[in-house]
Amino acid sequence: MHTPEITGRPTVQGISIIDFHVHFRMAQDDLTRSLAGGQFETLDPHQVKVSVEDSEGAWERHDAGQRTMMAATAQTSANWRRSWDFADPDSAQLDSGWEKEADRWVHELDTHSIEFANFVTAGGDSKMQDLVARGGGTFSGMAALKDPFAPRAADIFEEAIVTKGLRGLKVFAPLMSERVDSPNDAVWKVAARYNVPVVIHFGHCGSAGGIAQNSTSGPAWLEGLAKRIPEVTFVIPHFGIQHVQDVLFLMWACPNVAVDTSGSNQWVRYMASKLTLDDLFRRFYETMGPDRIIFGSDSSWFPRGFARRYLVDQLRICWEMGMPATDIQKIFGGNAAGLLGLHSWIPADPALAMAVSSVPNLPHP
Ligand SMILES: [Zn+2]
Repeated sequence: MHTPEITGRPTVQGISIIDFHVHFRMAQDDLTRSLAGGQFETLDPHQVKVSVEDSEGAWERHDAGQRTMMAATAQTSANWRRSWDFADPDSAQLDSGWEKEADRWVHELDTHSIEFANFVTAGGDSKMQDLVARGGGTFSGMAALKDPFAPRAADIFEEAIVTKGLRGLKVFAPLMSERVDSPNDAVWKVAARYNVPVVIHFGHCGSAGGIAQNSTSGPAWLEGLAKRIPEVTFVIPHFGIQHVQDVLFLMWACPNVAVDTSGSNQWVRYMASKLTLDDLFRRFYETMGPDRIIFGSDSSWFPRGFARRYLVDQLRICWEMGMPATDIQKIFGGNAAGLLGLHSWIPADPALAMAVSSVPNLPHP
């Protein structure tokens, strides 16, 4: 690990790192658990008993089908973990409560020289507030809504910002009851009022067995909303996943749309034409510049902890592209600091001091 301390602060390769996209206790969170697909299943597919002896057989066959499907998706997740050299998630018996896990994250960031982490889900806004308090200044957190068009969603979100001190909103388009360009603007107007970013996951959702696509999952419909509410920055995680082409044109049309780089981005394997993480960085950087690309790890479970290999792979790609260090500092810290309202934050290296966000975002109240 190349983690020189600069002016008494942690860096990775001389860059001050803010992780914009971390999940807390996904397995205990109804919102994220429902998307996890096979990730938290420990079913051994060889032990699944297919029982169809019943003379009628319909329910038994249905149950057997369910078990087979769960086993298959669990196997896909297990194969993915093996490919990436990730241990299986800790079992529920090893859980020692949220405080211990929060402390574990503080230690984990310290170990990996990550200066600050923004959690996007934590099992509810009150739990997120507790988590942020426990982080002792190294965490921020976002509100999360399953459906931004549900009754009272705007009130709940406003309360999260005003009384719980949360710094934005995380939603999953495939879970929404309406398309994102619905005329029901109430939630987005709260984001506008308090100058906080909105992170909207588009495209396939969850690990194996999650949602591949549905009628609300596409990002192209964000154009109407992003143009209607230009004061809000909308961040699309994982470069827009299978909709990467739509996202590039969306960002061309809407300067208030950005992407985050979080996760393994193994979705590129499922594209019909060969596409790599290097290609993604190159395409977005060439067309959008350094101000609308935001590093996130999508770290979530232990014992994996901070997914360091995502960070170092992405840094290597950017260095090898020949990006200037100031642009790399924007992508891996400065842009997130601006969006999260960390207005006194500057990079540890004085030579990179100008690498703070120019994404339009007014001071946090
Ligand atoms: Zn995520």
